[in-house]
Amino acid sequence: MDIQQLRNILKDSGIVGAGGAGFPTYAKLDERVDTIILNCAECEPLLYLHRQLLEMHSLEIMKAFEQMAVAMGAKSKIIAIKKTYKDTLEAVQSYQNQFDHLEVCELEEVYPAGDEVVLIYEATGKVIPPGALPIESGIAVFNVETVYNSYCAITKGEPVTDKLITITGEVEHPLTIRVPIGMEVSEAIALAGKTTTEEPCYLMGGPMMGQLVSKRSVITKTSNSILILPKDHIVVRKKEKNNSIDLKRAAAACCQCSMCTDLCPRYLLGHPIEPSSFMLAATCKNVQKTEVFINTLFCSSCGLCEMYSCMQGLSPRTLITEYKSGLRRAGVPTSKIAEFRPVAKEIKYRRVPMERLISRLGLNAYQKKAPLIEQMAHASRVKIMMSQHIGVPALPLVKTGDYVQRGQLIGAPEQGLCVGMHASISGKVLEANEKYIIIVHEQQKGRVSYE
Ligand code: SF4
Ligand code: SF4
Repeated sequence: MDIQQLRNILKDSGIVGAGGAGFPTYAKLDERVDTIILNCAECEPLLYLHRQLLEMHSLEIMKAFEQMAVAMGAKSKIIAIKKTYKDTLEAVQSYQNQFDHLEVCELEEVYPAGDEVVLIYEATGKVIPPGALPIESGIAVFNVETVYNSYCAITKGEPVTDKLITITGEVEHPLTIRVPIGMEVSEAIALAGKTTTEEPCYLMGGPMMGQLVSKRSVITKTSNSILILPKDHIVVRKKEKNNSIDLKRAAAACCQCSMCTDLCPRYLLGHPIEPSSFMLAATCKNVQKTEVFINTLFCSSCGLCEMYSCMQGLSPRTLITEYKSGLRRAGVPTSKIAEFRPVAKEIKYRRVPMERLISRLGLNAYQKKAPLIEQMAHASRVKIMMSQHIGVPALPLVKTGDYVQRGQLIGAPEQGLCVGMHASISGKVLEANEKYIIIVHEQQKGRVSYE
């Protein structure tokens, strides 16, 4: 299969990065790619998704990975797995000799090992220049579920209709389960039994980079986990901060110890982001050094500075994100920097061990296995967003009252960076507009189910 045929399949099947910003996968297939990396680093604490999926479906995922490498003409193929994922490593290594020149790179159990720029450095020794995309250095990274979705699309013609998520924290039975895209958070949580705290809060996406969401929020193609925590948990309190109060607290308490900069993963790779300098300039309203503010665009929002490094409990990441958004709204582009500092020689001593991070975040009690259940969960209704990824929203193809089948194309890919959206359950369209489509399961209306 040539690269254009593969791009068409992935675009029509609605495949985007299954996690993070959800970059459409077809757009990452590029003839310039020399090195292709499979990311099995499970960046956030408490997630058990990629390691189990890769262990269960090693051969299928490795075949699709090979097919993508061949289509792009990539000479180097690397599967990057944390060395603590022993069963996954064993499963992959048992098939490794079926593929030519396939390397397995064992990663340390540190945060943020799954960050694309950090992962590329650990797996290849190359540093992606600030502001540049990996493809400009001839590298493409795909996560495990994205490649598994590609396998299903290539070999079985299956579009993306469901998502694997880990549901953990204050629930009776933590698990990793396949749910229809568009399922409500409340319905997904019930699959893990009762919640075990009186005032639960819901974090979608992990404790470091995730966001607090309501029970009515829905699962998208990039949702990896729902973490349920008590209302007074330190992680919840950190997420509930207020920017204006944060700035005042920073002005009063930032002692310029520079711990946030010393442990910043992007700073250690030589990128020009220095959270401590930003905190000083922002709190003193010192706009003489504009580069301190402009360089906020090179922050990856990993959250290490505010969730781990700062002993004063300040919020560099939140404030940097606020400035970054302001720059983007004002149309300031992220410039590419060709000349930058070399990688800090102390980098390997400044990695943050996952165990220590989990302990600092008060999450030790939630370090429980979340076994993967492959069978798809039932949803009574789904709300499928037309925009679930970077790029242009899909165009709705159905109207209120229509009947749809699971897997049917209900959102057409628009011009530009876009993929198709598919019905995740069979049923009747309750509402359709340019933002979302709500489908109610047939049996909810007393009709015969298509499933
Ligand atoms: S770690 Fe905290 S106190 Fe130290 S420089 Fe950074 S923000 Fe200021
Ligand atoms: S969130 Fe903080 S630690 Fe992470 S890249 Fe940005 S400044 Fe550095």
